[in-house]
Amino acid sequence: MSIHRKSKFEVNIMKQAGNIVALVHAAMKEAVKEGITTQELNDIAYKIIKQNKADATFLGYHGFPATICASVNEQVVHGFPSKDVILKNGDIISIDVGATYKGFVGDSAWTYPVGEISDEKKMLLKATEEALFAGLEYMRSNEKLENAAGAIEDTAKKYNLGIVRQYGGHGVGRQMHEDPFVFNYRTNCPLILQKGMTIAIEPMLNLGGDDVDVLEDGWTVVTKDKKASAHFEHTVHVTDDGAEILTKLL
Ligand code: MG
Ligand code: MG
Repeated sequence: MSIHRKSKFEVNIMKQAGNIVALVHAAMKEAVKEGITTQELNDIAYKIIKQNKADATFLGYHGFPATICASVNEQVVHGFPSKDVILKNGDIISIDVGATYKGFVGDSAWTYPVGEISDEKKMLLKATEEALFAGLEYMRSNEKLENAAGAIEDTAKKYNLGIVRQYGGHGVGRQMHEDPFVFNYRTNCPLILQKGMTIAIEPMLNLGGDDVDVLEDGWTVVTKDKKASAHFEHTVHVTDDGAEILTKLL
């Protein structure tokens, strides 16, 4: 495992990349409503990234065809935006987006309600966001990374939610996916966090069981039991005082 700790200069650029991602999410929050297509959301995201002189990190990444991952209801992650997917009242949509600015990546995902959603889905969104912030509590120098993973798992258990185990968080920097991999449940991981590490924490929690499948497109991850799934992600900088969130609006 090789982990590049970022200099102040590099963290500053990452903050700008993160802010562009946050601007996209601010626009997504406004735009997500009944009747909009996920292709339209994708096009809004692309425009904002380009207007800010950045590149859409996901576009072309291992052949991914779009700027955002748009994953509706039982879709967990990596859904393709499409002009045929029209959001309906009661849906939830997870939008994951990355921007590369001056060679550095920001990566953040959020799950949005469409109109009025069920109480169960409201709980899922609240709990998954809570799991993200529970994990972020441990993102400080000299802390064990596995404690962040444990906090995510404990939050999922508190709400009796499934945990997607095949995917997780990761180091971020010049590459979208750098070491270390971050599990969303307790494992034996010896890594001690140090300042300058920049990491994306991203719990994916399910209303049903843990198990997922990948659809025939080779990308879209769905829950096996077709129950809804949520995804919340921030890119953070590890400091002596805790997580500095890089994908928060400046
Ligand atoms: Mg990520
Ligand atoms: Mg992401």
